[in-house]
Amino acid sequence: MTNSGQCRIGFLWSPLLETFDFGRKHPIRVGRFKLLRDFVDEVGFLDLPNVEVITPELLSEDLLKTIHSEEYIAKVQQISETGIGDIDIDTPGFRNIYFNSRIVSGASVTGIKSVQSGLVDHFVSPTGGFHHAKFGAGGGFCIFNDIAACVYELKNQGIKRVLIADFDVHHGNGTQTYFYNDPEVMQISFHEDPEWMFPHDGYIQDIGEGSGRGYNINMPFPMDSGDAVYRYAFDELIPPLVDSYQPEFIIFIPGFDAHYKDRLAHLTLTTDMIRYIASTIHDFAHEYSSGKLGVVTGGGYHHESLCWGLGTVMSVLSGLDFEPPPQQPPFDDNEETWEEVKNNVALVKDLIFPIFNL
Ligand SMILES: [Zn+2]
Ligand SMILES: [Zn+2]
Repeated sequence: MTNSGQCRIGFLWSPLLETFDFGRKHPIRVGRFKLLRDFVDEVGFLDLPNVEVITPELLSEDLLKTIHSEEYIAKVQQISETGIGDIDIDTPGFRNIYFNSRIVSGASVTGIKSVQSGLVDHFVSPTGGFHHAKFGAGGGFCIFNDIAACVYELKNQGIKRVLIADFDVHHGNGTQTYFYNDPEVMQISFHEDPEWMFPHDGYIQDIGEGSGRGYNINMPFPMDSGDAVYRYAFDELIPPLVDSYQPEFIIFIPGFDAHYKDRLAHLTLTTDMIRYIASTIHDFAHEYSSGKLGVVTGGGYHHESLCWGLGTVMSVLSGLDFEPPPQQPPFDDNEETWEEVKNNVALVKDLIFPIFNL
């Protein structure tokens, strides 16, 4: 285990991140960031000597134009001026959405810069993780894809092997489209079965193309999967792949919406699993990536489990003394779940491992 009390953490934070407005009935409503801020205050995370608040910069126009088409950027700008129109059916527009999206996505890139400059070892971008946004379109509550922007920032700085470890319960379909042919990016996405779950993408067979073949790894889980099957899949797949790839930088999306209390989806993890994932990924960062690790939080729509998840990840990285209450998911993994997960893991291994001589 890495001694996390010695790691320096940058926490991307500014009241400007609260200028989000999908409306009161939307899962991401105004107040979500205030809730996180109150929680962070309450547990004393920002008082730790090894934690530094970093002010987010706007996403640069250069990076914005790299990750999105001119037409799409113009559409967001127009909605932003008038407050009229939607980004997508599930993603309403609002006045000032262009500024808000540039600051929330810029926060993650600011995190990358603060790690690369040596200011901190790890960053946490508590409003980041817009993995459904694609070059020509937003959707799934995502406007500008900050993960893609982070990767391009790293590429601009000469980094050749970026690992995106995405445990959000929804497949990282937007991010996948940017780097599908690119061996400089390995994307591993664990998510609920796309057969019924948004964004209906992220099948095992989608392993990348051309020189990127094998660098896109999708591991879907059946409904009601809990800690035990998830940990099995994690242990079987992630350590060998990370060891083979030797990433220079790890971007980690923890997946608070895979928690059993989060009913936007149907996985039944507890924060025990979130702690296990976070500490393993943290150890990998120190083993392979000179500690270079960025956390972009992604989904999480149940207030309690979102805070528990964030507190758990922060405690792993910083040594913060935080432990959520004991949790009892409604189901244990049954025989059927085990069978499907073992089957999926075997399929992923058959397709991916030979490419890396594993
Ligand atoms: Zn560390
Ligand atoms: Zn999600």
